[in-house]
Amino acid sequence: MKNAFTYITRACPRDCDYCNIKSGKESRGRMSVEDWVTTNYILKNMGVTFNLILGNETWLLGHKLLDILKLNEVPFALYTTAPPSLFEKYRDEFFGSGVIDNLTCGIDYSFKYLQSITRKFTTTEQKSWDGWQALKWAKEHYPNLDMQGNITVYRENYLQLPMLVQELAELDIFEGVNLIHWNKDGQYDFFPGRDVMEKYLFRDHDIDSLHNVFKRVLRNYHLLHHPEVLDLDIPTLKFMLDMKWHCEGDPYGGPTIDSDGSLRCCGYRRGTRTPKIHILDMVGKKIEQWEEAVHADAMDCPGCSWSFPRMFKHWNATDEPFGRDVFTKHAGRHVPDDKLSERKIE
Ligand code: SF4
Repeated sequence: MKNAFTYITRACPRDCDYCNIKSGKESRGRMSVEDWVTTNYILKNMGVTFNLILGNETWLLGHKLLDILKLNEVPFALYTTAPPSLFEKYRDEFFGSGVIDNLTCGIDYSFKYLQSITRKFTTTEQKSWDGWQALKWAKEHYPNLDMQGNITVYRENYLQLPMLVQELAELDIFEGVNLIHWNKDGQYDFFPGRDVMEKYLFRDHDIDSLHNVFKRVLRNYHLLHHPEVLDLDIPTLKFMLDMKWHCEGDPYGGPTIDSDGSLRCCGYRRGTRTPKIHILDMVGKKIEQWEEAVHADAMDCPGCSWSFPRMFKHWNATDEPFGRDVFTKHAGRHVPDDKLSERKIE
């Protein structure tokens, strides 16, 4: 198993507090459609078995997304924050084409909670509301589409987690859960620093309560993509909240590609050596140089608790063939066979 991670664009119409990518802009440029098509061939040739395509807002590419993905042979998931102006414009064409057979949205709040709000939404509430609308629309019109609600867990929303997971599971929508992170050493360009993140971060006296919430979620019906990331004893949960897990120099086997084609250490960190290599140069000796660069950059990192590399490591070490299905069609030991997603590319 070899996973990749792609920032297909840095542009985003949103302004969410705990995401720093909004500051990334497209300052380094963006690859052409042709270069992305070539990139997908390169990933296939490298043996990449799953590509997580993030935006920031992927649907800003419009028809170019279809052009990039229609010849692609690497299984993928495609994240969108589903801004209504983009989602409503492209949804029939994208899902009707069969080329884009996944909808992954960021959902941090329960639908019932959002419905109960009478004031103006915060930016993250708005993102969650738009995600809910997109998932519900897709469930109604494309009930067999592969779908996931991605939940970032932080101090302000963790008590809603059991209800949120239940709401998604009742619609047969998979749930991805990730713990909040912050820019610990100035090199995690995905997140703002501790000063901005303070209200989101857990304090020591929250940990027992968070642990109980995770236990409740795991006890009830769920379609968690990675229940393993919540099944933690209290010391391990504290270790994760402190961002002390480490990928040991190999985040997820395959490359992390920035919108201009330069490579990154991982989705969270650009690194200093890895960006000197470009995805379009990834043949022969360059692949070895890239592996060495990622390893060196990752070993400079203090750690994370990110579910994507953690689950890559978990399944690669325990059951690699099953792990491929976990990433491509939402398999899980807890997921009945008839709930597995059928994907165009598996
Ligand atoms: S531990 Fe590895 S995967 Fe996690 S942020 Fe650091 S380099 Fe990236």
